Amino acid sequence: MLQQTQVATVVDYYERWMERFPDVRTLAAAPESDVLHAWQGLGYYSRARNLHAAARVIAGDYGGIFPRATERILALPGVGPYTAAAVATFAFDQPTPPVDANIIRVTARLLDYCKPIDNAAGLSHIRAAAEQWQPSEEEGGAGIFNEALMELGALVCTPRSPRCSACPVRIFCRAEAPETLPLKRPRPRRVELEEHCGWIVRDDQVLLEQQTGKRWRGLWRLPILTEPHSGIPLAALAYPFTHHRVNLSVFPGTTPLFLTENQHWFSLAELEAVPMTAPHRRALQKLLPKANA
Ligand code: SF4
Repeated sequence: MLQQTQVATVVDYYERWMERFPDVRTLAAAPESDVLHAWQGLGYYSRARNLHAAARVIAGDYGGIFPRATERILALPGVGPYTAAAVATFAFDQPTPPVDANIIRVTARLLDYCKPIDNAAGLSHIRAAAEQWQPSEEEGGAGIFNEALMELGALVCTPRSPRCSACPVRIFCRAEAPETLPLKRPRPRRVELEEHCGWIVRDDQVLLEQQTGKRWRGLWRLPILTEPHSGIPLAALAYPFTHHRVNLSVFPGTTPLFLTENQHWFSLAELEAVPMTAPHRRALQKLLPKANA
């Protein structure tokens, strides 16, 4: 319930939910319409459906007892690796670190890990180290240990100004410039692209062309001019595309003798209903007053 929702909003829902479904068997036996009704107002209904499906697995396969092993928790509907590790460690004291941003930051700094952590190799290095530090099941205390690691990241080893002088683990810490860690892969430099399109109007009709490329297949846009144009455009705007910034300029175009198979004339009245890429729709909105003038 707390995903994407504030605690103050959730409390009433939680109390009503627990009255309506006081245990996992009651939830498992409830019709889906009751479950969705009790969830109404919280949004993201897939969470309610997953909770219901998970209750059915727990009631059916585990006799109504929540499984303790991380891999079994992970197999429940709607549960990902982070949630599985968090439930296993906080509820059942399992040595499974829930590797969130705090644990990543603290671990990278303790190890002085100076490689990017936002790729599979970096993340698995951090995860392996955090796993290695866990107390064993026999020793116990993994839940407290992981909570402490997360709290350390939230309160002491903070992203911008780590309070190393007050840090309880500073004698183990190898970080030389902690505020620079963890490292992330450099973002590719943004490249500017020019896109020149034609504004071609005939008898209250506008010429558009349908895209065939992967990204916007089937959507319509203003026709691309094959020759680059100079001068003052009728409309201009910019939009991002992966690591590019595309400068879209629309110039007056000449009516072609023949249309290509993906070009079509649309009446001004039809344009509203034509599916278009967002930047070309915005350009069209700038241009239409000129066509109507
Ligand atoms: S000594 Fe500093 S960098 Fe190292 S874990 Fe503590 S707060 Fe973080």
